Amino acid sequence: MQIAVLGDVHGNLEALDVVLADAKAQGVERFLQVGDVVGYGPDPGACIARLRELGTQVCIGNHDAAVIGRLPQDLFNPFARMAIQWTRSRLDEDELQWLAALPLFLVVFEEDLTLVHGSMHEPEEFDYVRSLPSAKRSMEAQQTAYCFVGHTHLPCAFTMNGMVGFRYRPEFEENGKLALDGNERALINVGSVGQPRDEDPRTGYVLFDTERRSFELRRLPYPIAETQATIRDLGLPEVLAERLTYGL
Ligand code: ZN
Repeated sequence: MQIAVLGDVHGNLEALDVVLADAKAQGVERFLQVGDVVGYGPDPGACIARLRELGTQVCIGNHDAAVIGRLPQDLFNPFARMAIQWTRSRLDEDELQWLAALPLFLVVFEEDLTLVHGSMHEPEEFDYVRSLPSAKRSMEAQQTAYCFVGHTHLPCAFTMNGMVGFRYRPEFEENGKLALDGNERALINVGSVGQPRDEDPRTGYVLFDTERRSFELRRLPYPIAETQATIRDLGLPEVLAERLTYGL
């Protein structure tokens, strides 16, 4: 089976639509998302609706948690905080309840995989997997063969053979491909749909082939200027439009 795993969407509908169309063309039957559906971007309600229509399984992100009042807003920079307050004012009761029902992490037993926004090491802390020690801590707490995270908006991959042989896998960032051997388990950061920060402004997601045990990081152009125009029209901070041009 082909599974699409989506990173932080952050209310960017144009990017999300490009990702969903590509995933359907690739024969994807199941959609997963690692949190931060909202925050920063101008179309939070429409992004929630798209994921719900597809029966997407989603765990909660730190921006989602702040929008429903589960995380204090002073943990965020002023632009993020402004966007969190704005997002809250734009969502209806049903959308807020959908966010409130998202779990901190989610195990899909039949596919032996876990979704968590930051790290499986104390998931409620929303730690960032961005160094070898932080990735190793997450993998040591990982109970399934595969774990998908987001949060840093930077794609990367790590593997372990059973519970030993922890390794960083540069080929995933370099060629967008990773295939597992034997008993290897994987921790994959799927990057971000709606606000990439690896200096590549294209949107992206991970295509997971469950039979081959392979992962493909797909990057796709999307109409950035349309998202930027909506951000400006709605009076969200200019920096949130500008950064999309540079992938920062
Ligand atoms: Zn995020």
